[in-house]
Amino acid sequence: MNIYRKWLFFSLLSSVPFFTSCDRTKPSLPDLLVVNQQIATATDPEATNNDCDTLVITCIDYRFAAANQEFINGTLGLKDNYDHISIPGSIYNLINQETRSLLFSKFALAVRLHLIKRVIIIGHKDCGAYGGSPVFGSEIAEYETLCADLIKARELLIEKYPTLDVDLFLESLNHDGDKAKVLFEKIY
Ligand SMILES: [Zn+2]
Repeated sequence: MNIYRKWLFFSLLSSVPFFTSCDRTKPSLPDLLVVNQQIATATDPEATNNDCDTLVITCIDYRFAAANQEFINGTLGLKDNYDHISIPGSIYNLINQETRSLLFSKFALAVRLHLIKRVIIIGHKDCGAYGGSPVFGSEIAEYETLCADLIKARELLIEKYPTLDVDLFLESLNHDGDKAKVLFEKIY
């Protein structure tokens, strides 16, 4: 047996237990159906038949998640009628050239699938993607930067999709004693 054949023989031999053990640990379909758990939630049957023409872009920040749902579903009246991209930093990803194309590619998919006509971008203060409020030096500087970035994000979207309506909101977390409140401000 020459050296190549020896190597091949031992390689194949050593790989056998590996493949065997992988096969043994992979559950069969009936096992998967037993082990996995299905959880059903109710949806409005009418809503799921309608087209969706709005896309909402928010940050992932958990502090704003519940307020965002309430604002989008209730205040804006978009319940069951919007696509949602939740991405760390929301507008920062459009401003930042490194991540802009990623967000645009996801956006293009929503436009293609659902013929999106309106985009709602919700940015927020104290965003981790920017490094939080302290990096701005002052509340006014943070406000000015975030407003400018929201407006720039709208310009970038309209540059690519001229017929799009883009609404901008800036949200902030306000503490009143023990209570925390999320305030939304429309940016023009
Ligand atoms: Zn954020």
